[in-house]
Amino acid sequence: MNENNDNKEVSLVGLTREEIKDSLIKFDIPDQQINMRVNQVWGWIYNKGVSSIDEMTTLSLGLREELKKHHNLNRPVISDEQTSEDGTKKWLLKFNDGSEIETVFIPDDERGTLCVSSQVGCTLNCTFCHTGTQRLVRNLSSQEIISQVVVAKDSLEEWCEEPRKITNIVMMGMGEPLYNYDSVRDALHIVMDNEGLALSKKRITLSTSGVVPEIVRTGNEIGCLLAISFHATTDEVRNNLVPINKKWNIEKLLNALRTYPGLSNSQRITFEYVMLKDINDSDSDAKRLVKLIAGIPAKINLIPFNPWPGSPYNRSTKKRIDSFAKIVNRAGYASPVRSPRGEDIMAACGQLKSESLKLKKN
Ligand code: SAH
Ligand code: SF4
Repeated sequence: MNENNDNKEVSLVGLTREEIKDSLIKFDIPDQQINMRVNQVWGWIYNKGVSSIDEMTTLSLGLREELKKHHNLNRPVISDEQTSEDGTKKWLLKFNDGSEIETVFIPDDERGTLCVSSQVGCTLNCTFCHTGTQRLVRNLSSQEIISQVVVAKDSLEEWCEEPRKITNIVMMGMGEPLYNYDSVRDALHIVMDNEGLALSKKRITLSTSGVVPEIVRTGNEIGCLLAISFHATTDEVRNNLVPINKKWNIEKLLNALRTYPGLSNSQRITFEYVMLKDINDSDSDAKRLVKLIAGIPAKINLIPFNPWPGSPYNRSTKKRIDSFAKIVNRAGYASPVRSPRGEDIMAACGQLKSESLKLKKN
């Protein structure tokens, strides 16, 4: 992506240190200077957020001119930008192949959370999720994942600004991050790099529908917080809501979670639980849930269902959600009810979808 088709310039935005080094090595830079130059370029891209190579003033004029022949600092095109009445912002971003994804910023009292996409669409077809109805599916490159953060920082004007507006990142946008593991890992390493975007791993949460074989690796290689789209307490119901459950059922999923590296009371797993009227919201469900997760340091995030055009479910009543939350809470788990944000611009959980046509299915 970000490759300008006319002159084959490659954007430096979103490249890893290794990729920047591979680019710089082509220029006439003495070996002992290469790492320093990589660090300088890195800082200009991810710390200062410059948008032209001319602004990289610690590089010699000659090197800047050479760099400009092959590279630029292009971002994806912002096809649309909307702001909700509650302050939530949503960007529709278009990549060079024409496919589009959505990125959402949710400001709160003391934090600002950026919700980042990992795929165009999603192959998994969870029946309550709008993204799952999108026909086009492809993985995003790590460059495309990082460019979402860069565009958001541009738009929020937060480069070099304190306090930060983006304090947390959640991989909870379009797509299943663990079906695009390598790119997500590389992108999150860039997000965590102390000389760049510098977000701590405790401020990054990756949400998965339950791709069991990648869970332990996520803890070992990324080390971020983990959220699980759990949503049901029997395999029968979960098979319907989250079809990946047919491959890795509740028992297999919970076994993997019990071994998540770094799991502790200060690093709990978040169980996301969408509240669907008369489907998964009974008191017996709540009781089964706490039994199932016994022994796992966890909090339960109750998400009132966010409807989308043609969606087959209804949101549970407030009374039902409160009753469910009480049972979970009495069992010793925090059970915050996630208040829907950005509903008026279809930016709430599970409402994201872009109009890209089907190119290929991974
Ligand atoms: N694919 C990953 C990342 C997406 S996270 C995953 O499923 O975990 C998006 C979260 O919103 C998930 O927990 C998802 O289950 C939830 N969600 C999807 N559709 C929703 C809807 N219509 N209302 C409320 N939450 C929804
Ligand atoms: Fe994909 Fe997650 Fe939506 Fe399921 S909930 S379809 S895994 S984005």
